[in-house]
Amino acid sequence: MKILTFDTEEWYIEKYLNGGRKEKYRRYDELLDWILNTLDKNNIQATFFCVGQLAVEFPEVVKRISDNGQEVGCHSNRHLWINKMSKPEFAEDTRIAVQEIENLIGKKVRSFRAPAFSIGKDNDWAFEVLVENGIEYDCSVFPASRDFGGFPQFTSSVPSLVRKGDYTLKELPICPARLMGKVVPFSGGGYFRLVPLWLQRQLLNRMDYVMFYFHINDLIEQNSKFMTKQEFEKYFKEPGTLKNRVTRYMKTNIGKGGALNKLDVLLENYLFCNVEQAAELIDWNKQPLIEL
Ligand SMILES: [Zn+2]
Repeated sequence: MKILTFDTEEWYIEKYLNGGRKEKYRRYDELLDWILNTLDKNNIQATFFCVGQLAVEFPEVVKRISDNGQEVGCHSNRHLWINKMSKPEFAEDTRIAVQEIENLIGKKVRSFRAPAFSIGKDNDWAFEVLVENGIEYDCSVFPASRDFGGFPQFTSSVPSLVRKGDYTLKELPICPARLMGKVVPFSGGGYFRLVPLWLQRQLLNRMDYVMFYFHINDLIEQNSKFMTKQEFEKYFKEPGTLKNRVTRYMKTNIGKGGALNKLDVLLENYLFCNVEQAAELIDWNKQPLIEL
């Protein structure tokens, strides 16, 4: 089972953090068109995790996704990281986001992904909040260490039932592969761009469950700029040391040129499904139960 997901916030981030450049909106519109057309051509349904405020500020983007028959999930309200929020803040954030998206598309939002995989051991109360807001499927667990976010204590990298207090949620985590002793989340972000196509294929052929995760920005050839200390700290709420900034720059820029082609080849050659479809196909009685 290969699940295809896109985290969708670019228009909103451009407007509020990067100055609202018209050419950027145009580029994002073009890329979204390309993605939607390619999915249509290959008869693939994907999940687009949208930020709630995208439904308010750029409703035409979210509508276009939904009207194309793609699943719209929730990617928080304003793309703020959950490990920087209190439980009541996250509850309010999620309530607004789900409501805005549902009002716009006229459908229930069932799937969620946290910005930057920011649900971990210290804020696993987030699962309770998600269930209380009608979320059935979560895709926020990155079961390995990561610069920001990540949940290395989560012992499963296959679909699992998560039990937290009285609540149970279906989790579809990222599935890192082991390559030469290293954990490599090859199916999205910078790693997707770095891992060559022949190796992507090999991994796909040998794994039963793969969760692909893209941001539209991951697929753009144009490089994102090197952040100043102030910009970094404002955005990431982490020390903007030279090391942190260089790491971030490398991760967001390396290998962008080939990403779109690589995705194109995979979409033509493999069957993908969205989160809702995957959740229907999985026999949850046979999946691991993770008690938090
Ligand atoms: Zn995101």
